[in-house]
Amino acid sequence: MRFNRGKRYTYYSSYSSSRRQRIRWDRIAIIGVVVALVIGVIVWFNLSRLKLLFKGYSFSQQNEILSLEGKEIDEILSHEKMDHITDWIKTSENVSYYDEYEKYFSLHKDLQVKVVVTTIDDVFNNYVAQLSGLGYTNDQIWKVLETASANDLKYLLEKQYTYTQIEPYMKVKGFVFTDMEKYMEVYAQKKNYNYAVLITTYPFIISENKVTKTYTIQNPENILTLVKKGFQLADSYVPSDLVKPNVPVAPDCDNSMMRKEASEALEEMYKEAESLGYHLVINSAYRSYADQKKTYDDYFKKYDEVTAASLVALPGASEHQTGLSVDLTSTSVIQKKAKGDVAVFGDSEEGKWVEKNAYRFGFILRFPLAQSSITGIGNEPWHFRYVGKDVALKIHENNWLLEEYCLYEGVIPNIKENQ
Ligand SMILES: [Zn+2]
Repeated sequence: MRFNRGKRYTYYSSYSSSRRQRIRWDRIAIIGVVVALVIGVIVWFNLSRLKLLFKGYSFSQQNEILSLEGKEIDEILSHEKMDHITDWIKTSENVSYYDEYEKYFSLHKDLQVKVVVTTIDDVFNNYVAQLSGLGYTNDQIWKVLETASANDLKYLLEKQYTYTQIEPYMKVKGFVFTDMEKYMEVYAQKKNYNYAVLITTYPFIISENKVTKTYTIQNPENILTLVKKGFQLADSYVPSDLVKPNVPVAPDCDNSMMRKEASEALEEMYKEAESLGYHLVINSAYRSYADQKKTYDDYFKKYDEVTAASLVALPGASEHQTGLSVDLTSTSVIQKKAKGDVAVFGDSEEGKWVEKNAYRFGFILRFPLAQSSITGIGNEPWHFRYVGKDVALKIHENNWLLEEYCLYEGVIPNIKENQ
């Protein structure tokens, strides 16, 4: 056996080289034509598969798509690759909306596939043509769909609101489509889009309006955080950078800590006051949630709920928990009180100087006498809140309260509704 094989091998290798080449060229030509024909046939019958492949669809996705009818396949091929194509094929027969499903899903990643399909079917069957009729461009419709429900679109169409009308309000944090009518009413008076949206969505920012919902502040470290009944701090919130300002402290005060930035600003104000002969003293600064709760509970025991709430902030609703607020007094006031006299910081020379100059150091008088209906707190000529120099200057120039600054400038904390 071994011998025969060897012999056969020798036989093949004994062909002359010229003859072997000629035969090969013939064969290659024939094979070439056949291969080209076969490829041609394969391509002809699988052009769609090839196109799908080039778009980036996986083999199993190609199979799903190729199970559809020709014009449906063409529809899919006319769009960019859709990552969730198998979901759309499984859930909906509206192939012409697959691209819209994909786009809507990318805007609302937490939605279920079924919800995406029913929403887009509803929106595109019932509202999109009418919105176009009102002048909405495709891009504008998609801008609206970033936050609008089908119900919101229905509302816009009922009211015939154009995109130009809603756009400036949409930019404000807290915007709700179905409040548009109210926004426009407020805007007519205030001429400010931020104000219109925020006072409508969070009416309690002005304290004479009732608090119907309360929210927990999610970014309490922000120095512009508006803290009041309605916008409240978590019981666990303790500022991370509390320090003891290098400023004298009243004899019975055991809470003189402030956030570093506010503490430095207070030291600066204290030094300038000293150089002018005014002697400022800290009466109370950072108070923990537990401290505030204890104070509130003591008042609650002494008086009724309404009286207690009018005298002390609810736990979580006190600015003192931010570490950005300070109740000031002065050496002169402390001395008068020690003698048994009545003395209020606001009436002292120091108090008058601080009220006039605090903004230069980044502080504002937080609860002025005349505006307790807005702040919800009676006259507190000793309570100053740090907001930083730029904002304090702006508030000073406009003669605003912190509430008004927040409303006009569209500044509200990041919040979560309490259940
Ligand atoms: Zn205070």
